[in-house]
Amino acid sequence: GSASAASLARRGWQVTVLERHAAAAQEASGNPQGVLYLKLSAHGTALSQLILSGFGYTRRQLERLQRGQDWDACGVLQLAFDAKEAERQGKLAGAFEHGLLHALQRTEAEAVAGVALPAGGLFYPEGGWVHPPALCQQQLQHPGIRLVTHQEVIELRKVADQWQAWAGERLLASAPVVILAAAAEVRRFDACAGLPLKRIRGQITRLPATVGSRALRTVVCAEGYVAPPRGDEHTLGASFDFNSDNLAPTVAEHQGNLALLDEISTDLAQRLGVATLNPEHLQGRAAFRCTSPDYLPIVGPLADAQAFADTYAVLSRDARQVPQAPCPWLGGLYVNSGHGSRGLITAPLSGELLAAWVCGEPLPVPQGVAQACHPNRFALRRLIRGK
Ligand SMILES: Cc1cc2nc3c(=O)[nH]c(=O)nc-3n(C[C@H](O)[C@H](O)[C@H](O)COP(=O)(O)OP(=O)(O)OC[C@H]3O[C@@H](n4cnc5c(N)ncnc54)[C@H](O)[C@@H]3O)c2cc1C
Repeated sequence: GSASAASLARRGWQVTVLERHAAAAQEASGNPQGVLYLKLSAHGTALSQLILSGFGYTRRQLERLQRGQDWDACGVLQLAFDAKEAERQGKLAGAFEHGLLHALQRTEAEAVAGVALPAGGLFYPEGGWVHPPALCQQQLQHPGIRLVTHQEVIELRKVADQWQAWAGERLLASAPVVILAAAAEVRRFDACAGLPLKRIRGQITRLPATVGSRALRTVVCAEGYVAPPRGDEHTLGASFDFNSDNLAPTVAEHQGNLALLDEISTDLAQRLGVATLNPEHLQGRAAFRCTSPDYLPIVGPLADAQAFADTYAVLSRDARQVPQAPCPWLGGLYVNSGHGSRGLITAPLSGELLAAWVCGEPLPVPQGVAQACHPNRFALRRLIRGK
């Protein structure tokens, strides 16, 4: 939401951000540290292209924040923690330039990380960690943006050329253009009800830094991740729970996170005194990731679902047809959601993509990437595959 607002405000729009909490970045974007983690593919998929462009875009935005407090370009080391991962990393090292990523043997990786490690891995020297609320706040700091808190939108109505945001009988705002940027909550609005978004609960654990743990100089990831301290705390993450709806942190997931830490570095676990920590007293927070089936975000204009199915029904009989009928857009209604586990990399660039759609500008990503992120892709696949 803040990325979309920033991109629109830079283009001269007056943006009102309706936020249900007392401040921005209280849900998924509220973690103390998130990692600029690039899960690339050697095959140049749309997702990999988006990650690469998004990484560069986010990195440049971060230069405006206070290094050390709001983010740090300390690098990210992805451990080759099993044979399959080592093979995947070998392909990536051959497919991308050395400055973006390169393979490190174990002793080299330990020298970079500052702690003992079970394996070498891929090092991304330009990666690092971000305090996501700081990024959101920086994006919202524009004279064209008005953040209105404690505003939970329940319903959207279209009246003449205006969209109206309602909370029961209360009209919260109206505007010719609306961006739905509420993670999985976008499905409560009819226009997004058919989007196949899944909520996946995740919990991070905050670990007090020690003299020994401050030796950690880079983010290290295996199945989980641990970052150098921000102030006096390391962030250790993150659990995946596909079934829970409850956001209260659990002891079991803290224990699961500690097991992830042990896989990353038993040396670091010892430096942090993990054996002496009582999991009952650990601090952390949980939130929902919002994921699409193809792991790409959902960014762009919205169509009327029933009218779309009717207009392009011919595709369900013959997918090679190229129907000429114009798309039944819901004029002025857009979505920016589905950022999964990598919103720090995809959301800022998606704000630009969204604003380009709204303003009719050239899109900031290749056409194939924009199409791969398009909200209509699921409805189109349903028509073509008949499901
Ligand atoms: C445990 C965990 C660890 C993660 N680690 C990383 C990481 O290391 N690196 C990374 O890149 N990403 C990470 N992510 C993912 C990243 O946090 C998300 O991709 C990103 O925060 C998504 O941003 P968003 O704005 O789409 O959603 P959110 O941050 O959830 O924002 C949605 C906003 O919409 C508001 N809202 C919802 N419904 C309404 C309504 N009806 N009316 C008004 N307001 C509404 C909410 O209050 C909230 O402010 C992690 C996520 C989790 C949960």
